[in-house]
Formats: sequence, C-alpha cells, structure tokens
Amino acid sequence: MKITKEHVFYSFTGNNAPAMMVDAPAQIDFETMDCFGNQLRNPEDVMEEIDWDRINPATGPVFVNGAEPGDTLKVTINSIKLNEKGTVCCLAEEGTLGDRIEGSHTRVVQVSDGMVHYMTGNGKQIDIPLKPMIGVIGVAPADGLDINTGTPGKHGGNMDTTMIGEGAVLYFPVAVEGALFGFGDLHAVMGDGEIGVSGLEIPADVNVTLEVIKGKAPEYPVLETADDFAVIVSKGTVDQACQRATELMQEMLQERTDLPFEDIVMLMSLVGNLQVCQIVDPEKTVRFVFPKKYIPGLTF
Ligand code: CA
Ligand code: ZN
Repeated sequence: MKITKEHVFYSFTGNNAPAMMVDAPAQIDFETMDCFGNQLRNPEDVMEEIDWDRINPATGPVFVNGAEPGDTLKVTINSIKLNEKGTVCCLAEEGTLGDRIEGSHTRVVQVSDGMVHYMTGNGKQIDIPLKPMIGVIGVAPADGLDINTGTPGKHGGNMDTTMIGEGAVLYFPVAVEGALFGFGDLHAVMGDGEIGVSGLEIPADVNVTLEVIKGKAPEYPVLETADDFAVIVSKGTVDQACQRATELMQEMLQERTDLPFEDIVMLMSLVGNLQVCQIVDPEKTVRFVFPKKYIPGLTF
C-alpha cells in the first residue's frame, strides 16, 4: 500500500476525508513533501515568493478500521528513505535568534553517503552525519478541534522530536473514529530545540506499520526505541511541558512496576532525562526519557 504526496492535509481534524482506509495491522509507504511544500528546492527559490498556504503538508490521512476514541494507535517507523537534497532556512522574527536576523535566508544542501554536505555562505563545506526524523506526525484531535499541522499537542502534530526516527515506535491517543493518521516534515538532521525554526527539510519515502491497541490511550504521545521509553509533551511554555512530562512518566512507571513511589522519583532523578524537543513552534515540546534497562520489561 502506498499514499503519494498528492494526498496531503494541513490541519489535524476529524473532518478530513481519508486518503486510504485500512485494516490493522497495516504496512504502508508514505511519500512526503518537505515542510515548505517542496517550494524551496533550488538555490534561486526565495521565501518571499512561496505560497504560505502550502506549508507543513502531512501525507494522509489514513482511516484505520476499528480504531475508536479511547484506543491507542501504535505506529512503527520501519524505514526512512531521504531525497538527495534538503533545505534549511532562517528568517527575521522567527526562532530564538529571530530578532537578530534580517530578511530570509535558505541553503539547499546535498545529502549523500550518510552525510549532509552543508555549504556555508562563504564557501566552507561542513559534513554532518544524517539523523533522519519525522517533524509532523499524529492523529486527529477530539471532535470539533482543528489543529494546523504547524502546532503540536496531545494528538502529536509538529513535535519536531529528534527521537522520531527509524525503528522508533509511537503510541497516539485515538480521539476520532478511524484515528485519521498522517505525517510529513522530514528532517535529514536537526538539533534539539530547532532554534532557527528549521531542520534540514527534505522530501522522503517512509514505511510505517499501524496497529490498534484497544481500550487504553495515553494523554500525550509515548515513544519507544530499543533502549528508551519516553513521553512527548507540548504546552504553552517549556516549564509547563516539563512539569507534565515528569508527572506522566512517574504515573506510567508506577503502573508498570511494584516499586515504591519514592524510589520511582529517585530513579527518575538519577537516570531519567528531561530533554527539549523544540522551542520555536506555537506550543513548546519536551520529552521525559527513561532508559528501559532499569525496569525490565518496560513497554507501553
Ligand atoms: Ca516542524
Ligand atoms: Zn521541519
């Protein structure tokens, strides 16, 4: 099964018409555009001329038969195949240093041999190892809500989280019938924080497996890798997001072990990592990451 980039949406809502209906488990190829709608693919393309209604396209949505509010959509990212070039930008009034930037600037950068071949404005090449990841990924929020694809939240969305890469497993709270899952905004590499509002934005082909877990749902997206168990929380401020992420991790660990509450607090303090995902989107995103090896069998 494959969904091409002709099937995109710009806000997560229960009102989107499905691009595809599937029975779970389903393995699907997604063709994604970059966050600029592939409008800045050449050095001569300028930000002043792009159509801002085509920003942050997400491919989909997929209606998963049998997924109902209160269930979890489990998403396994099997593989990410990046295009051979990507685009990074910075512009005035955007991002953490926006008040120091004049105008808008883009670099179109080649990607090959597992590396990003970054070229500076004064002709220096800096090679950076690829770390492919998905910026926007999620499900429709609860009935009536309509959240543009540039904003993160309980439904996922523009979380810009570097851990959302090949091999990662995500757990989303299903809020409408069919879940209406989709994603886009791949990055060849991005630093935690995404301080300049852009990763190396790049079209990609991504293969995912969708499964439904009945009868339970997380408050915010949960993420697992081979080594880590994490919750990804978006709130108005980083402080608020840190507080809620820490509370949710404590609750999840409590439900999954017989350890006394105080030991969970102390273990979270010793080996848990509160990390910034992004601080430049309408809501700020952090993650609390707990290494699985300290609690055998720890999983969603
Ligand atoms: Ca993004
Ligand atoms: Zn992006």
